[in-house]
Amino acid sequence: MSEILYIVIPCYNEEAVINETVNRLTSKLDEMTEKELISNDSRIMLVNDGSKDNTWNIIEELYSSNKYVTGVSLSRNRGHQNALLAGLFEAGEHADMVVSMDADLQDDIEVLDDFVKKYYEGCQIVYGVRKSRKKDRFFKRTTALGFYKLMNMLGVELVYNHADYRLMSRRAIEELKNYKEVNLFLRGIVPMIGFKTGIVEYDRGERFAGESKYPLGKMIYFALDGITSTTIRPIRMITVMGFLIALVSMLFLIYVIIGHFQGTTVQGWTTTIVLVCLFGGIQILCIGVVGEYVGKIYLETKGRPRYIVENVLHK
Ligand code: UDP
Ligand code: MG
Repeated sequence: MSEILYIVIPCYNEEAVINETVNRLTSKLDEMTEKELISNDSRIMLVNDGSKDNTWNIIEELYSSNKYVTGVSLSRNRGHQNALLAGLFEAGEHADMVVSMDADLQDDIEVLDDFVKKYYEGCQIVYGVRKSRKKDRFFKRTTALGFYKLMNMLGVELVYNHADYRLMSRRAIEELKNYKEVNLFLRGIVPMIGFKTGIVEYDRGERFAGESKYPLGKMIYFALDGITSTTIRPIRMITVMGFLIALVSMLFLIYVIIGHFQGTTVQGWTTTIVLVCLFGGIQILCIGVVGEYVGKIYLETKGRPRYIVENVLHK
């Protein structure tokens, strides 16, 4: 068996890493074609996400010098998830199976064989799962763990320690096309597709060059988007909280009224201030959460394109 594998790599200002990444992947693909694990029509698809540096020029050069390289260029920067989606859909036109990974090769490419083997065993989706987070700094490790715990509590089905290193069959990609959402959180959507799935474990290294395109601020927004794009449980929690607070207030009201008629009411300045501040804060927070969802609805109803392809290099 040797079916066509495409490797999709979103690239945003990655001039420092692309050449090396393609070199390593080229030898890996050579090795896999030799073993007849994959067809020699397999390709590396580099998606330029509106980079401001030399990334696209490098992709064009690689396209003419390397038999595996194909390129897609988006009309502007649309963010990792959208670039990935563009690549998956573009690759899905040619490939039997598509693996997505980052440009910096933090994900170990030696497990590509395992991905492909799982695919031949009938898996439509294979998740790359990190063995451990020992290499992460303490801060990243704890925030990541907290995020998975929170998502779990909110009822979102996530594959633990899986990012966007995964294999999808052409079939799974076809199904993914039916998820029209603009607010993309692929690792939340993909498990909803179903089918037979598999897991491949790997070690995640450090970025070998260039800088992370996900600073803390972006990561927090990504996490919030992840929550609001997959679950409405926060709104439900507000409703429950509102109900409980109303109930307690009712009891408190009775107590206050009785106190009033008994003439035992005292100044109570501290209590008043504390309650006003507390409930003021809670209310603003709740409006904010509801607002997040209203904003998402606003963006979804517009149904704007998630990306625009400017250029495709494919032979
Ligand atoms: N990326 C992208 N568009 C963006 C930001 C990032 O296509 O707007 C790509 C980036 O080139 C890389 C991948 O997304 O291939 C993951 O980014 P990075 O490695 O910087 O994230 P980290 O591993 O630090 O979380
Ligand atoms: Mg990275």
